[in-house]
Amino acid sequence: MGGGCGVSGREADVVIVGAGVIGAFAAYYLARAGERVVVLDPDPGGGASAGNAGLLVPSYSRPMAHPQALAEGVRAVLGGGHDITLRRPLRAGTLAWMARFALAARPGRAWRTAPRLAAMAARSLRLYTEFADAERLDIGLRDAGLLAVSRDRRTLDAQRRTAERLARLGVAAEVLDPAAVADAEPGLGPVAGGVRFPGDALLDPLDATRAALTAAERHGAVLVRTAARRIRHVNGQVTGVDTEAGPVAATTVVLAAGTSSVALARSAGVRLPVEPGHGWSLTLPVAEPLLRHAVLDLDAHVVLAQRADRLRLTGGMELGGPPAPPTPERFASLRRTAAGLLPGAALGEPGDQWHGARPMTPDGLPIVRRTRPGLVVATGHGQLGMTLAPATGELIAADLTARSRG
Ligand SMILES: Cc1cc2nc3c(=O)[nH]c(=O)nc-3n(C[C@H](O)[C@H](O)[C@H](O)COP(=O)(O)OP(=O)(O)OC[C@H]3O[C@@H](n4cnc5c(N)ncnc54)[C@H](O)[C@@H]3O)c2cc1C
Repeated sequence: MGGGCGVSGREADVVIVGAGVIGAFAAYYLARAGERVVVLDPDPGGGASAGNAGLLVPSYSRPMAHPQALAEGVRAVLGGGHDITLRRPLRAGTLAWMARFALAARPGRAWRTAPRLAAMAARSLRLYTEFADAERLDIGLRDAGLLAVSRDRRTLDAQRRTAERLARLGVAAEVLDPAAVADAEPGLGPVAGGVRFPGDALLDPLDATRAALTAAERHGAVLVRTAARRIRHVNGQVTGVDTEAGPVAATTVVLAAGTSSVALARSAGVRLPVEPGHGWSLTLPVAEPLLRHAVLDLDAHVVLAQRADRLRLTGGMELGGPPAPPTPERFASLRRTAAGLLPGAALGEPGDQWHGARPMTPDGLPIVRRTRPGLVVATGHGQLGMTLAPATGELIAADLTARSRG
């Protein structure tokens, strides 16, 4: 990846703020369409796109805001949350976000956004394959499928009902009894059953982000390693970005700075309903193949994803507050969950600890739209940023190129 610091006096058709997976794929499709693109990021790929699970999951198309999660959200506010926790002290913004989440989670509302997410996820999966083939870049893409397992019959029943509704959106699923789970994943300890989503896939999230950026540069995008300070605007029209290295003028600014997008949008007078959803991962070296699928432990809400000689364990959904390293117990708990699921595996190595924050919207739909003249916001992908990135980039490029032609 290139990128000096000289920026002052630069002009671009499009300036993209943020080179996580969303900004990188926006840059790729825009540069490929012939736009003059400048990407600004002091630490490309250094946000949530680095250490996540790397699942491409049409099976996650039901947003987090649904009735059971609402009950969990209430427990979180009261201090007893398990799946969702709140970073304290609680800020007014987090409480306002929770109120909007509660509205989105009402019965009847929860499934409204799922068809759009499922369609975008399916499109992205096709685009990832096309991208890897066209650019000849290795992103570790594998049709692994996702296997969701539980030791609890009621949890499995709920997952089965979710799978039935997802099937109506074109997301394939198979319900597996304990023997079928053991066949599918011989290394797993005893569970009550599982649901397999064969259409889900796995990639290396950091490799994919870097590959999109490398490909964008091949197509002419320029990466500048500097931070945006504020968005410039005159009479309501966005005109560029002030950065730590000076101003950059642009016809359009694409704001794709993950959770940092909120403060930057505010500098342009735009309020974004986005809260950080903190999560963490532990990546352990492993000597042998342990898993064929990516595995989701529905009881502990932990994902296990093996890529070559690394097993990554991810978990956590702590809303609000500033970034802060998780306690050692968070990582110990990930390891205990994995050891419980894979009783024969040697998982004692210290491993690499990571934490990051998902940009969460209350209803689970990303914000990908022009919010004022010259400003396109591309954030709020929550749990699905890797899954939806290429489709997001393609959408932005189609919109901007249609405007510049017409
Ligand atoms: C534990 C965990 C597991 C996850 N697992 C999955 C999964 O399996 N599948 C999936 O689809 N999604 C998953 N996600 C969600 C996914 O990681 C995010 O949705 C996605 O990475 C968001 O990408 P982004 O580009 O919007 O933000 P980020 O990756 O956070 O990128 C934002 C970029 O903006 C830059 N930036 C910040 N401020 C500025 C500034 N002032 N100027 C310039 N640049 C700036 C940062 O340096 C960063 O590079 C997971 C998330 C977590 C936390």
